[in-house]
Amino acid sequence: MARLSLNAVSKSFGDKTVVDNLSLTIEPGQFVALLGPSGCGKSTILRMLAGFETVSAGDIQHGDQCLSSTKFHLPTEERNFGMVFQSYALWPHMTVMENVGYPLKIQKVDRQNYHRRVQDALDIVQLNDFKDRLPSQLSGGQRQRVALARSLVTEPDVILFDEPLANLDRHLRESMEITFREFHRRTGATMVYVTHDQAEAMALANQIAVLKDGQLMQWSTPEDLYAQPSHEWVANFIGQGSILHCQSVIGNQLLTSTDVIGLLYDQTGQDGRMLVRPQHVDLSATSNMLQGTVRECIFRGERYDIFLELENGDTLHAYHTEPLTIGSTHQ
Ligand code: ADP
Ligand code: MG
Repeated sequence: MARLSLNAVSKSFGDKTVVDNLSLTIEPGQFVALLGPSGCGKSTILRMLAGFETVSAGDIQHGDQCLSSTKFHLPTEERNFGMVFQSYALWPHMTVMENVGYPLKIQKVDRQNYHRRVQDALDIVQLNDFKDRLPSQLSGGQRQRVALARSLVTEPDVILFDEPLANLDRHLRESMEITFREFHRRTGATMVYVTHDQAEAMALANQIAVLKDGQLMQWSTPEDLYAQPSHEWVANFIGQGSILHCQSVIGNQLLTSTDVIGLLYDQTGQDGRMLVRPQHVDLSATSNMLQGTVRECIFRGERYDIFLELENGDTLHAYHTEPLTIGSTHQ
């Protein structure tokens, strides 16, 4: 297993730069998410890692082997990377076992090894009982597990995923998140996982690259991304929260509620912004100095999501255990 690194990689189509001077170092065994809105260049990065696209500038290294540079391009089939895409792309006329074994057939692996490896891959995704079925006889989640097993069967160092859960319903996505986490623990492979869904990225990855317009905005653990977003754009994109306008703020500080109240009432200094997470707003406290009008109250089962309009026009999102009347004023 080797470190995967992108060094100042750019990619242009015509005069449009879609990946801009991207540098990332992915350690062996890491589960990395490439996270960003649609069109920000995630799939293009994955396709460069896979070898389906060349690089326009910079280079990609795997250990001490160069995969891609402007002068050299190692073909996809020589990279031994597994791949799983949004569409499962299973062969409809092949059984589960034949689908999973297909990459080994291409590699002309001998019979004994073929059976052992297919068996191991099916074990990992717990599909042994389904090995003689056709894809049409499986549920969406089971089909995606066949695609997972197939990505694994060649014993790759790195597995690349492009929005593999995007076609599944919410309930199934959540159970598949657990499947992916187990899959990572059992294989120990390096995983690079593309998604536009921040909750999915945080649930799966131990390191996240947040991308916007082909540029890296932040490269952090999920916890750091949530607690210390490096830009207002990242703060808006990750987790729940309100960006409040206040006069003087020192960037990237974690504040107590007293600090927050002080800042919101401070009329001096420059125009600043502050991120407030909803779980840090206590609407039941008696000493709140902030005043706001309830504009929305949404039941979420374990809590209510309350949206208050503050006196300065900002919206403040808070969690609360009780419903509040829309239009009522709270302090
Ligand atoms: P994402 O996966 O984040 O949604 P993509 O990497 O697919 O984004 O695309 C990034 C940008 O590059 C988009 O504007 C897309 O239209 C453009 N693009 C991707 N592939 C090509 C291509 N082969 N030729 C021209 N433009 C492309
Ligand atoms: Mg994409």
